Amino acid sequence: MNRNVKCRLLSKLRWTSVIIFLISSLVFANLAYSGDNSEFERLQQILTNYGFIVKQEIPPNINNLGLRPYGLMNSKTKTIWINPVVFELGNAQAVLVHEAVHAAQTCAGGGQVSLLNLDLEPPQFTRPYFMRYHSYRREIEAQAYTVQVQPDSLAIAIELLEQNCS
Ligand SMILES: [Zn+2]
Repeated sequence: MNRNVKCRLLSKLRWTSVIIFLISSLVFANLAYSGDNSEFERLQQILTNYGFIVKQEIPPNINNLGLRPYGLMNSKTKTIWINPVVFELGNAQAVLVHEAVHAAQTCAGGGQVSLLNLDLEPPQFTRPYFMRYHSYRREIEAQAYTVQVQPDSLAIAIELLEQNCS
């Protein structure tokens, strides 16, 4: 084998290994993504069963920080918007759990968001998220943030929907 052929063979091998690496990382990325998505889809399905519409679209309103929120719920139309960016950020489930709590609050108030019977206290680190709201809205948001940070947040959200929307 002359030097030139050897060189070409080596560079071919190098490219093959790069391509194999790229394909395997894509496969692993997909696995992680679909794993995260199955819980999301489960909660989305439950919300749909209770008459809520879940849209994976940029929310139509801006929040009190002047930004498009990660999630939004309209209690009158029972519509939930999940900003598609949360799938890239990896917090889609937490955002849907948050909005699911608002959905349960809507059921509890017969179409108007109202406080749930919740035996959980907001963890200290969640305070900045709801302290920017005022009065009743602050308590409403405190419940949503409290649930979304629990290790078993999905199960709690489902239970709250069952208790209030059935
Ligand atoms: Zn909220």
